[in-house]
Amino acid sequence: KDCAEISLKDINQLASTSFPLCMRHLFGKLREDHHLKHQGRMQLGLFLKGVGLKLEDALAFWRAEFSQKVGAERFDKEYAYSIRHNYGKEGKRTDYTPYSCQKIIMSTPSTGDHHGCPYRHFSEENLRAALNKMGVGGRAMDDIMDKVRNRHYQLACTLTFEATHGTSCETGINHPNQYFVESRKFFES
Ligand code: SF4
Repeated sequence: KDCAEISLKDINQLASTSFPLCMRHLFGKLREDHHLKHQGRMQLGLFLKGVGLKLEDALAFWRAEFSQKVGAERFDKEYAYSIRHNYGKEGKRTDYTPYSCQKIIMSTPSTGDHHGCPYRHFSEENLRAALNKMGVGGRAMDDIMDKVRNRHYQLACTLTFEATHGTSCETGINHPNQYFVESRKFFES
């Protein structure tokens, strides 16, 4: 179920309306630091591929950020390959699949990493702050934190979707790309 192409000029707006928290966080950190470590690049890069960002746009997107940190030349030499690789254009030419929630939740980010699932890997304080930034508060916040305490991370994410879209999400969230598709369906209907 491939969804439509997305274009680079819409990406900021799409990130703020339709990215799940894990991808919002990576996207924000990339914009802020102009850099992400390998696992973060994989998690966000494959997600962006999955939502329909074409290879040329993906290269332009990562290049614009990384060149501010490491320079365009080093980006082209050291990082562009792995982006083409994600799109199956290098190496074994495997077309890599975007990560599921389960895979992301099971990952083990350490200090300085930004991949992973915020519901699982953030401190309570950081999670509350991130949810607040998405406009979540009050009763919805309490319900989400309750799910997190019981280790129901995908349910916490589903409740976040419901709180920020003002609609129910009966299927539940099990994949970041599914979150995106459900969100676009909601906003475009
Ligand atoms: Fe991302 Fe899934 Fe965690 Fe939601 S539950 S933040 S989509 S990994």
